[in-house]
Amino acid sequence: MANATIIDGKIFAEAVRARVKDAVTSLKNDHGLIPGLAVVLVGEDPASQVYVRNKKKQTVEAGMASFDHQLDVATSEADLLSLIEQLNNDPSVHGILVQLPLPDHIDSEKVIDAIDPKKDADGFHTINVGRLSTGKKGMVPCTPLGCLMMLKDQLGSLAGKNAVVVGRSNIVGKPMAALLLRESCTVTVAHSRTHDLAGLCRSADILVAAVGLPEMIKGDWVKPGATVIDVGINRIPKREEPKKFRLVGDVDFAAAIEIAGAITPVPGGVGPMTIACLLRNTITAACRIAEVDEPPM
Ligand code: NDP
Repeated sequence: MANATIIDGKIFAEAVRARVKDAVTSLKNDHGLIPGLAVVLVGEDPASQVYVRNKKKQTVEAGMASFDHQLDVATSEADLLSLIEQLNNDPSVHGILVQLPLPDHIDSEKVIDAIDPKKDADGFHTINVGRLSTGKKGMVPCTPLGCLMMLKDQLGSLAGKNAVVVGRSNIVGKPMAALLLRESCTVTVAHSRTHDLAGLCRSADILVAAVGLPEMIKGDWVKPGATVIDVGINRIPKREEPKKFRLVGDVDFAAAIEIAGAITPVPGGVGPMTIACLLRNTITAACRIAEVDEPPM
Protein backbone atom coordinates (compact mmCIF):
# COMPACT_ATOMS: atom_id res chain seq x y z
CA MET A 1 0.00 0.00 0.00
CA ALA A 2 1.32 3.41 -0.98
CA ASN A 3 2.14 5.58 2.02
CA ALA A 4 3.59 8.81 0.70
CA THR A 5 1.71 12.06 0.25
CA ILE A 6 1.81 13.07 -3.40
CA ILE A 7 2.87 16.69 -3.72
CA ASP A 8 0.66 18.01 -6.51
CA GLY A 9 2.70 20.57 -8.43
CA LYS A 10 -0.22 21.45 -10.71
CA ILE A 11 -2.41 22.55 -7.81
CA PHE A 12 0.53 24.26 -6.08
CA ALA A 13 1.48 26.15 -9.26
CA GLU A 14 -2.14 27.18 -9.82
CA ALA A 15 -2.20 28.73 -6.34
CA VAL A 16 1.10 30.56 -7.03
CA ARG A 17 -0.27 31.87 -10.35
CA ALA A 18 -3.43 33.12 -8.59
CA ARG A 19 -1.27 35.04 -6.07
CA VAL A 20 0.86 36.37 -8.94
CA LYS A 21 -2.27 37.64 -10.70
CA ASP A 22 -3.45 39.40 -7.51
CA ALA A 23 0.01 40.93 -7.11
CA VAL A 24 -0.08 42.24 -10.70
CA THR A 25 -3.51 43.79 -10.10
CA SER A 26 -2.36 45.57 -6.97
CA LEU A 27 0.84 46.85 -8.64
CA LYS A 28 -1.26 48.24 -11.51
CA ASN A 29 -3.80 49.85 -9.18
CA ASP A 30 -1.41 51.18 -6.54
CA HIS A 31 1.62 52.14 -8.64
CA GLY A 32 0.59 52.05 -12.33
CA LEU A 33 3.25 49.35 -12.70
CA ILE A 34 2.78 46.58 -15.27
CA PRO A 35 5.49 43.93 -14.90
CA GLY A 36 6.88 42.92 -18.32
CA LEU A 37 8.73 39.75 -19.34
CA ALA A 38 10.78 39.50 -22.54
CA VAL A 39 11.49 35.99 -23.83
CA VAL A 40 14.17 35.52 -26.47
CA LEU A 41 14.27 32.34 -28.56
CA VAL A 42 16.97 31.70 -31.16
CA GLY A 43 16.20 28.94 -33.66
CA GLU A 44 13.38 26.43 -33.90
CA ASP A 45 14.12 23.72 -31.33
CA PRO A 46 10.64 22.12 -30.89
CA ALA A 47 10.92 21.64 -27.09
CA SER A 48 12.07 25.26 -26.65
CA GLN A 49 9.18 26.48 -28.81
CA VAL A 50 6.70 24.68 -26.54
CA TYR A 51 8.30 26.17 -23.38
CA VAL A 52 8.29 29.67 -24.89
CA ARG A 53 4.63 29.39 -25.96
CA ASN A 54 3.63 28.30 -22.43
CA LYS A 55 5.65 31.10 -20.84
CA LYS A 56 4.00 33.69 -23.08
CA LYS A 57 0.49 32.31 -22.45
CA GLN A 58 0.90 32.28 -18.67
CA THR A 59 2.51 35.74 -18.64
CA VAL A 60 -0.50 37.20 -20.48
CA GLU A 61 -2.99 35.27 -18.28
CA ALA A 62 -1.34 36.80 -15.19
CA GLY A 63 -2.04 40.29 -16.58
CA MET A 64 1.62 41.01 -17.28
CA ALA A 65 3.18 42.40 -20.48
CA SER A 66 4.83 39.78 -22.70
CA PHE A 67 7.51 40.65 -25.25
CA ASP A 68 8.33 37.90 -27.68
CA HIS A 69 11.60 37.82 -29.69
CA GLN A 70 11.88 34.82 -32.02
CA LEU A 71 15.16 35.02 -33.90
CA ASP A 72 16.49 33.06 -36.84
CA VAL A 73 18.88 30.18 -36.00
CA ALA A 74 21.62 32.02 -37.94
CA THR A 75 21.38 35.16 -35.76
CA SER A 76 24.89 36.32 -34.87
CA GLU A 77 26.12 36.62 -31.29
CA ALA A 78 26.62 40.36 -31.86
CA ASP A 79 23.00 40.83 -32.96
CA LEU A 80 21.73 38.86 -29.96
CA LEU A 81 23.91 40.95 -27.61
CA SER A 82 22.55 44.13 -29.13
CA LEU A 83 18.96 42.92 -28.58
CA ILE A 84 19.83 42.18 -24.93
CA GLU A 85 21.19 45.71 -24.56
CA GLN A 86 18.01 47.14 -26.04
CA LEU A 87 15.91 45.09 -23.56
CA ASN A 88 18.18 46.13 -20.66
CA ASN A 89 17.40 49.77 -21.54
CA ASP A 90 13.66 49.31 -22.12
CA PRO A 91 11.75 50.52 -19.03
CA SER A 92 8.68 48.39 -19.85
CA VAL A 93 10.80 45.19 -19.62
CA HIS A 94 11.50 43.99 -16.05
CA GLY A 95 12.46 40.38 -16.72
CA ILE A 96 14.58 38.98 -19.56
CA LEU A 97 14.81 35.28 -20.33
CA VAL A 98 16.98 33.82 -23.06
CA GLN A 99 15.75 30.31 -23.83
CA LEU A 100 18.56 27.74 -23.60
CA PRO A 101 20.17 25.93 -25.31
CA LEU A 102 21.47 28.52 -27.78
CA PRO A 103 22.94 27.47 -31.14
CA ASP A 104 26.61 26.38 -30.98
CA HIS A 105 28.00 29.54 -32.60
CA ILE A 106 26.73 31.66 -29.68
CA ASP A 107 28.51 31.78 -26.31
CA SER A 108 25.64 31.24 -23.82
CA GLU A 109 27.64 32.47 -20.81
CA LYS A 110 28.47 35.72 -22.58
CA VAL A 111 24.81 36.26 -23.47
CA ILE A 112 23.52 35.47 -19.95
CA ASP A 113 26.11 37.77 -18.40
CA ALA A 114 25.06 40.58 -20.78
CA ILE A 115 21.58 40.65 -19.17
CA ASP A 116 21.14 43.38 -16.55
CA PRO A 117 21.37 41.30 -13.30
CA LYS A 118 18.28 43.17 -12.00
CA LYS A 119 16.29 41.85 -15.01
CA ASP A 120 17.75 38.34 -14.93
CA ALA A 121 14.42 36.46 -14.52
CA ASP A 122 16.15 33.06 -14.65
CA GLY A 123 18.77 33.93 -12.02
CA PHE A 124 21.62 32.53 -14.14
CA HIS A 125 23.79 35.70 -14.29
CA THR A 126 27.14 35.27 -12.52
CA ILE A 127 26.29 38.15 -10.17
CA ASN A 128 23.04 36.47 -9.10
CA VAL A 129 24.84 33.13 -8.65
CA GLY A 130 27.31 34.93 -6.37
CA ARG A 131 24.51 36.69 -4.51
CA LEU A 132 22.72 33.40 -3.86
CA SER A 133 25.85 31.68 -2.60
CA THR A 134 26.80 34.59 -0.33
CA GLY A 135 23.25 34.91 1.04
CA LYS A 136 22.52 38.31 -0.55
CA LYS A 137 19.28 39.40 -2.17
CA GLY A 138 19.28 38.54 -5.89
CA MET A 139 17.34 36.67 -8.53
CA VAL A 140 16.97 32.93 -7.82
CA PRO A 141 16.70 30.24 -10.56
CA CYS A 142 13.06 29.23 -11.11
CA THR A 143 13.15 25.41 -10.87
CA PRO A 144 15.03 25.19 -7.54
CA LEU A 145 12.92 28.06 -6.19
CA GLY A 146 9.78 26.06 -7.03
CA CYS A 147 11.25 22.97 -5.32
CA LEU A 148 12.05 25.00 -2.21
CA MET A 149 8.52 26.45 -2.04
CA MET A 150 7.01 22.95 -2.19
CA LEU A 151 9.44 21.65 0.45
CA LYS A 152 8.66 24.49 2.85
CA ASP A 153 4.94 24.01 2.32
CA GLN A 154 5.30 20.30 3.06
CA LEU A 155 7.76 20.43 5.96
CA GLY A 156 7.65 23.92 7.47
CA SER A 157 11.14 24.67 8.79
CA LEU A 158 13.90 22.78 6.97
CA ALA A 159 16.56 23.64 9.57
CA GLY A 160 18.80 20.74 10.57
CA LYS A 161 17.46 18.32 7.97
CA ASN A 162 19.87 16.18 5.96
CA ALA A 163 19.41 17.12 2.30
CA VAL A 164 20.99 15.23 -0.58
CA VAL A 165 20.89 16.85 -4.02
CA VAL A 166 21.76 14.43 -6.83
CA GLY A 167 23.09 16.52 -9.74
CA ARG A 168 25.36 19.55 -9.77
CA SER A 169 24.26 21.56 -12.82
CA ASN A 170 24.28 25.34 -12.70
CA ILE A 171 20.55 25.52 -13.41
CA VAL A 172 19.24 22.98 -10.87
CA GLY A 173 21.68 21.10 -8.60
CA LYS A 174 24.01 23.89 -7.45
CA PRO A 175 21.35 26.58 -6.83
CA MET A 176 19.14 23.97 -5.11
CA ALA A 177 22.02 23.14 -2.77
CA ALA A 178 22.61 26.85 -2.07
CA LEU A 179 18.92 27.40 -1.27
CA LEU A 180 18.80 24.40 1.08
CA LEU A 181 21.95 25.59 2.82
CA ARG A 182 20.32 29.03 3.23
CA GLU A 183 17.46 27.19 5.00
CA SER A 184 20.03 25.62 7.38
CA CYS A 185 19.86 22.11 5.98
CA THR A 186 22.98 19.93 6.10
CA VAL A 187 23.54 19.59 2.36
CA THR A 188 25.42 16.99 0.33
CA VAL A 189 25.68 17.35 -3.44
CA ALA A 190 26.11 14.08 -5.34
CA HIS A 191 27.16 13.65 -8.98
CA SER A 192 28.44 11.08 -11.45
CA ARG A 193 31.66 10.49 -9.47
CA THR A 194 29.96 10.00 -6.09
CA HIS A 195 30.75 6.71 -4.31
CA ASP A 196 27.89 4.72 -2.75
CA LEU A 197 25.12 6.96 -4.07
CA ALA A 198 22.49 4.55 -2.74
CA GLY A 199 23.88 4.76 0.81
CA LEU A 200 24.12 8.53 0.61
CA CYS A 201 20.52 8.84 -0.60
CA ARG A 202 19.39 6.63 2.32
CA SER A 203 20.73 9.29 4.73
CA ALA A 204 18.51 12.02 3.24
CA ASP A 205 15.50 13.52 5.00
CA ILE A 206 15.15 15.58 1.81
CA LEU A 207 16.18 13.95 -1.47
CA VAL A 208 16.28 16.07 -4.63
CA ALA A 209 16.93 14.22 -7.89
CA ALA A 210 18.15 16.32 -10.84
CA VAL A 211 20.08 13.92 -13.02
CA GLY A 212 18.25 13.23 -16.28
CA LEU A 213 18.38 9.39 -16.07
CA PRO A 214 14.98 7.63 -16.04
CA GLU A 215 14.10 6.07 -12.66
CA MET A 216 17.75 5.74 -11.64
CA ILE A 217 16.95 6.37 -7.94
CA LYS A 218 15.48 3.14 -6.62
CA GLY A 219 12.80 2.76 -3.97
CA ASP A 220 15.18 1.19 -1.46
CA TRP A 221 17.53 4.20 -1.76
CA VAL A 222 14.84 6.32 -0.07
CA LYS A 223 14.90 6.77 3.70
CA PRO A 224 11.52 5.85 5.23
CA GLY A 225 9.47 9.03 5.62
CA ALA A 226 11.80 11.20 3.48
CA THR A 227 10.53 13.98 1.25
CA VAL A 228 11.48 13.29 -2.36
CA ILE A 229 11.57 16.01 -5.02
CA ASP A 230 11.99 14.61 -8.52
CA VAL A 231 13.18 17.27 -10.98
CA GLY A 232 13.98 14.84 -13.80
CA ILE A 233 11.96 14.83 -17.00
CA ASN A 234 12.74 11.79 -19.17
CA ARG A 235 10.91 10.48 -22.23
CA ILE A 236 10.81 6.67 -22.42
CA PRO A 237 8.89 4.35 -24.77
CA LYS A 238 5.45 3.26 -23.49
CA ARG A 239 5.34 -0.41 -22.43
CA GLU A 240 2.20 -1.23 -24.43
CA GLU A 241 2.99 0.99 -27.44
CA PRO A 242 6.79 1.25 -27.79
CA LYS A 243 6.44 3.77 -30.62
CA LYS A 244 4.81 6.23 -28.22
CA PHE A 245 6.48 7.95 -25.27
CA ARG A 246 5.68 8.66 -21.64
CA LEU A 247 7.39 10.94 -19.17
CA VAL A 248 9.12 9.60 -16.08
CA GLY A 249 11.31 11.22 -13.47
CA ASP A 250 14.75 10.33 -12.12
CA VAL A 251 13.12 8.40 -9.24
CA ASP A 252 11.38 5.02 -9.47
CA PHE A 253 8.07 6.56 -8.38
CA ALA A 254 6.07 3.31 -7.96
CA ALA A 255 8.67 1.92 -5.54
CA ALA A 256 9.55 5.18 -3.77
CA ILE A 257 5.93 6.05 -2.98
CA GLU A 258 5.83 2.98 -0.69
CA ILE A 259 8.67 4.31 1.46
CA ALA A 260 8.81 8.12 1.22
CA GLY A 261 6.79 10.46 3.42
CA ALA A 262 6.01 12.73 0.48
CA ILE A 263 6.99 12.72 -3.19
CA THR A 264 6.50 14.80 -6.33
CA PRO A 265 5.18 12.93 -9.39
CA VAL A 266 6.43 13.26 -12.98
CA PRO A 267 4.65 14.77 -14.80
CA GLY A 268 2.72 17.16 -12.56
CA GLY A 269 5.29 17.79 -9.83
CA VAL A 270 8.19 20.21 -10.19
CA GLY A 271 7.50 20.99 -13.88
CA PRO A 272 4.45 23.27 -13.47
CA MET A 273 6.20 25.25 -10.73
CA THR A 274 9.02 26.45 -13.01
CA ILE A 275 6.93 28.89 -15.08
CA ALA A 276 4.93 29.99 -12.01
CA CYS A 277 8.26 30.96 -10.38
CA LEU A 278 9.36 32.76 -13.56
CA LEU A 279 6.28 35.00 -13.31
CA ARG A 280 6.98 35.52 -9.61
CA ASN A 281 10.60 36.45 -10.37
CA THR A 282 9.47 39.00 -12.97
CA ILE A 283 7.25 40.71 -10.38
CA THR A 284 10.11 40.67 -7.86
CA ALA A 285 12.36 42.30 -10.47
CA ALA A 286 9.71 44.91 -11.38
CA CYS A 287 9.22 45.87 -7.72
CA ARG A 288 12.94 46.16 -7.05
CA ILE A 289 13.54 48.24 -10.18
CA ALA A 290 10.56 50.54 -9.39
CA GLU A 291 11.55 50.59 -5.68
CA VAL A 292 8.07 49.61 -4.48
CA ASP A 293 7.18 46.98 -1.87
CA GLU A 294 6.67 43.50 -3.25
CA PRO A 295 3.06 42.33 -2.76
CA PRO A 296 2.77 39.00 -0.89
CA MET A 297 3.08 36.05 -3.32
P1 NDP B 1 22.55 18.18 -16.41
O1 NDP B 1 22.73 17.13 -17.46
O2 NDP B 1 23.09 19.53 -16.64
O3 NDP B 1 23.16 17.63 -15.03
C1 NDP B 1 22.95 16.31 -14.62
C2 NDP B 1 23.70 16.05 -13.34
O4 NDP B 1 23.49 14.69 -12.98
C3 NDP B 1 25.22 16.25 -13.44
O5 NDP B 1 25.69 16.97 -12.35
C4 NDP B 1 25.76 14.82 -13.46
O6 NDP B 1 27.01 14.67 -12.80
C5 NDP B 1 24.72 14.09 -12.64
N1 NDP B 1 24.72 12.66 -12.98
C6 NDP B 1 24.73 12.11 -14.21
N2 NDP B 1 24.76 10.76 -14.12
C7 NDP B 1 24.80 10.47 -12.79
C8 NDP B 1 24.85 9.27 -12.05
N3 NDP B 1 24.87 8.09 -12.64
N4 NDP B 1 24.87 9.35 -10.71
C9 NDP B 1 24.84 10.55 -10.08
N5 NDP B 1 24.79 11.73 -10.73
C10 NDP B 1 24.77 11.69 -12.06
O7 NDP B 1 20.99 18.21 -16.13
P2 NDP B 1 20.03 19.38 -15.52
O8 NDP B 1 20.44 19.70 -14.14
O9 NDP B 1 19.90 20.46 -16.51
O10 NDP B 1 18.65 18.58 -15.51
C11 NDP B 1 18.46 17.42 -14.73
C12 NDP B 1 17.09 16.86 -15.03
O11 NDP B 1 16.11 17.81 -14.63
C13 NDP B 1 16.80 16.58 -16.51
O12 NDP B 1 15.97 15.44 -16.61
C14 NDP B 1 16.04 17.81 -16.96
O13 NDP B 1 15.17 17.54 -18.06
C15 NDP B 1 15.24 18.12 -15.73
N6 NDP B 1 14.87 19.55 -15.60
C16 NDP B 1 13.57 19.81 -15.26
C17 NDP B 1 13.15 21.10 -15.11
C18 NDP B 1 11.73 21.36 -14.71
O14 NDP B 1 11.20 22.41 -14.94
N7 NDP B 1 11.08 20.42 -14.03
C19 NDP B 1 14.02 22.25 -15.34
C20 NDP B 1 15.40 21.86 -15.61
C21 NDP B 1 15.78 20.55 -15.75
P3 NDP B 1 28.39 15.28 -13.37
O15 NDP B 1 28.33 16.76 -13.07
O16 NDP B 1 29.43 14.58 -12.61
O17 NDP B 1 28.39 15.00 -14.84
